[in-house]
Amino acid sequence: MRRFEDTYQHKGLRRQLGNLLREKGITDENVLEAIQNIPRHFFLDSAFDKIAYEDRAFPIGEGQTISQPYTVAYQSQLLQINKGDKVLEIGTGSIYQAAVLAEMQARVYTIERQKKLYDHNKNFVLRSRYPNIKFFYGDGFEGLPTYAPFDKIIITAAAPFIPPKLVAQLKIGGYMVIPVDDGDEKQRMLRITKVSENATKEESFEHFSFVPMLQGKNS
Ligand code: SAH
Repeated sequence: MRRFEDTYQHKGLRRQLGNLLREKGITDENVLEAIQNIPRHFFLDSAFDKIAYEDRAFPIGEGQTISQPYTVAYQSQLLQINKGDKVLEIGTGSIYQAAVLAEMQARVYTIERQKKLYDHNKNFVLRSRYPNIKFFYGDGFEGLPTYAPFDKIIITAAAPFIPPKLVAQLKIGGYMVIPVDDGDEKQRMLRITKVSENATKEESFEHFSFVPMLQGKNS
C-alpha cells in the first residue's frame, strides 16, 4: 500500500514551481495559490515523486498524460474562475486540473472517456478533500446536458473543432477554454465567450500540445 506524504521538501519544490509559473507570466494569484497548495506528487505514480514539481507533463497510464503545470495554470487563468462557478471539464485524466479548479472553489463536473482511468480515479486519495468535484464516465463531445448550463467549460485534450453541443451548454457570458488543432500537431488555445444565445466571440492565445480529444467512450 502506497503511503502519501507531503514533506517540507515537496512544499519547497512547490513554492519554486509557483515562482517559475510567475516568471513565465501567470499572474492570477488564486491560480498560483491553488498550485502551491496541491500535492501534485499525489496524482502521479510514486516513481515520479522527486520530479513531480518540474514544469513537465508525465504519463498517467492508458497512453494519457497529466498536463504540464504551466498549461494547467494558463487554462485556469483564462477561465477567470469566481468562487462557486459551475465548471465542466472534458478529460479528467489524473484529476490534477480538476483539483486546481476545486481548490479555487469552483464546482467541477469532469468527464473522462477511458473507463480504466475513470475507475482508477474512484480511489483518488484526495477525494474527500474535494467534495466539489463530480466524476463522470462519458464522451466529452456530448457534455452533460442534464447539468447544463455551465459558467465555464475547459477542454484538456486537443479538439479537432469547437464542439457545438458544448457551446450550447455554456451560459450566456460564460467562457470556454479549448485547445483546437492548428496543423503540425499543435493546438491554438482559444477562449470562446458566449455573447448571446446564438453568437460567440473568439480570442486566440499561445500554442500548446495535448493528447487528442477522441469521439465516443472507451471501455
Ligand atoms: N485534465 C487532465 C489532462 C489529461 S490528458 C489532467 O489534469 O491530468 C486528456 C484526457 O482527456 C485523457 O485522460 C483522455 O482520455 C481524455 N479524453 C480525450 N477525449 C475525451 C472525450 N471525448 N471525452 C472525455 N475525455 C476525453
